Amino acid sequence: MALACFKLPEFLVERDYDKCINCRVCERQCGWEVHSYDEEVDKMFADTEKCVGCQRCAVMCPTGALVISPHPGRYREHGNWTQEHLRDAIRQSETGGVVLAGSGNDKDYPVYWDKLLLNASQVTNPSIDPLREPMELRTYLGAKPESIEVRDGKLVSQLPPQVQVETPILFSALSYGAISFQAQEALARAAAELGILYNTGEGGLHHDLYRYRGNTIVQVASGRFGVDPDYLNAARIVEIKIGQGAKPGIGGHLPGEKVVGEVSVTRMIPAGTDAISPAPQHDIYSIEDLSMLIYALKEATNYQKPVSVKIAAVHNVAAIATGMVRAGADIIALDGFRGGTGAAPKIIRDNVGIPIEFALAAVDTRLRQEGIRNRASIIAGGGFRNSADVIKAIALGADAVYIGTAALVAMGCTLCQKCYTGICNWGITTQNPYLAKRLNPEIATERLVNLVTGWSHEIKEMLGGLGVNSIESLRGNRLHLRGIGLTHGELETLGVRMVGQ
Ligand code: SF4
Ligand code: SF4
Repeated sequence: MALACFKLPEFLVERDYDKCINCRVCERQCGWEVHSYDEEVDKMFADTEKCVGCQRCAVMCPTGALVISPHPGRYREHGNWTQEHLRDAIRQSETGGVVLAGSGNDKDYPVYWDKLLLNASQVTNPSIDPLREPMELRTYLGAKPESIEVRDGKLVSQLPPQVQVETPILFSALSYGAISFQAQEALARAAAELGILYNTGEGGLHHDLYRYRGNTIVQVASGRFGVDPDYLNAARIVEIKIGQGAKPGIGGHLPGEKVVGEVSVTRMIPAGTDAISPAPQHDIYSIEDLSMLIYALKEATNYQKPVSVKIAAVHNVAAIATGMVRAGADIIALDGFRGGTGAAPKIIRDNVGIPIEFALAAVDTRLRQEGIRNRASIIAGGGFRNSADVIKAIALGADAVYIGTAALVAMGCTLCQKCYTGICNWGITTQNPYLAKRLNPEIATERLVNLVTGWSHEIKEMLGGLGVNSIESLRGNRLHLRGIGLTHGELETLGVRMVGQ
């Protein structure tokens, strides 16, 4: 029996009929079929209930006739039962399903980046002018040797493989299938222009993107989609994905409807089949197992590529990370609970995992205490919003950061969180050819390059203010940070002093 729908609309679509010229742009732009034209009365109408608040129509309307805002109609809420709790319970009582959501944890947990303040040089330690003096953002990822031996002026030590990036900002794992080809191509092209890296995620490497091999991180996840020797050898870095910040402890699922055409070819699975990544890697149940996979991948790539291991930031992350380094990982990728995703059970996205700030500080501290910090680089991910977050992460101990949501925003994403539906009006998280074509890879590339370039300029300005002329000199130097509004316990875990001290 079909159940009556008790859901209030989330957004209000208001049209100024004095401005509207019935051009029907909004009707064509909305993948959710909110707008329609009634010939009889020669007027546009909106089905408010279908609106997801992506703002595509409002941005594209040539006369500025549309305003999309949160719907004023509200359930009666109180301190315990918020609008969101009510909406989710009503939705589930109608469907019996799991509530899914895209993008990252949007709960009001403290953002610790906003509670950390940077230092600036004054009288005794002068600042550096980045416009007139060299300022180095170049970063080397991979294990560093304990010592090096030079004989007759020549380096004779065997160095582990290193990957050079021009700025410590990388594009995080966004798989083809979850995002459109156009979006992944833009990430690859932008990475090549910037001298940084993008990450295939677990969707395999499309044959047209092999030309960006010098800027590619390939993932080996539990589903092993698209993994073969060519794939591994096309990478600068091979990354084993154990976990993801947006959904720690659970696997991934790309529905069969999205496994079409080139997505199925690239993933090496039949079209129309669900691409299921099991929660665990079925050959990893111990650090020894992880070590075997790390060395199998090193063997397959002739020991020429650093192997990274990506985990979600969880409670005992420091102990796990030391095990990973001892197992042979050259890079540890830590993903905090604000990290984005195409689709996750909302209840897990919002309640499992820990903030990247604590995970990063705990891992860096532990590796230093154990004397093995040089054996692996740390890449931190999970909700970086601007250059200040990045530079604070470096001061807390990261070698580089992964940005995902910020990259999507650069390409046009407005955080409507409907990626899991496959209807992305901005052409980013969709396989619908009509929608995907909206994303022009050339324009998206330029926007991505601009974002990372702007952040890099700002990082140089901040470094200059700190009196530091190289990003590598800042790494793990927490004396440049002070905490504000934090408890003693929080300050202790972050390894940061209070403001005024
Ligand atoms: S895009 Fe703007 S002007 Fe065109 S039909 Fe829609 S509301 Fe009217
Ligand atoms: S990628 Fe598209 S569907 Fe996902 S949050 Fe952004 S605009 Fe919405």
